[in-house]
Amino acid sequence: MSKENIKVKCDVCNLVIEIDKWGNGECKNCGWRQSEESFQHPNVAGIRNIPCLNNAIKQYNNGKPATLANFDDFVNVYKNYGEVEFTLNHSRYGVLFDDSKNKIALLNIQSGEKQFYNNIEDFSKNAKLNGFLLSDVWKDVTSTDFLQDT
Ligand SMILES: [Zn+2]
Repeated sequence: MSKENIKVKCDVCNLVIEIDKWGNGECKNCGWRQSEESFQHPNVAGIRNIPCLNNAIKQYNNGKPATLANFDDFVNVYKNYGEVEFTLNHSRYGVLFDDSKNKIALLNIQSGEKQFYNNIEDFSKNAKLNGFLLSDVWKDVTSTDFLQDT
């Protein structure tokens, strides 16, 4: 049984990590999901990670998680992939398309409460939580990911 794992440096924090023969691996230090594709497209958000590589590096260098996306990257990942989530004030929220309403739903995953927006532009401009524009309180978001089980 030969080990096929390859040692490389994490694209974000430079720690030595192991990747498989497809170039995929996860950094134990910063949480970045290593990906040849995101390395080739460092300004494209949503390739195995929510933030694009260049923004992940910025986040990490500012002492924040490499997996935490800024609002623009988050909105772009919704546009490209459709289902994303974030954590704000210890509550998880999903952003997903609601087929029955034909609108974008901002779902409080704990309570099941939903708000609806006509499209992603409407969401990015007008989404509010607790009376604050989401774009204004995004700095307090503590994690971003593809939507996990709700
Ligand atoms: Zn790393």
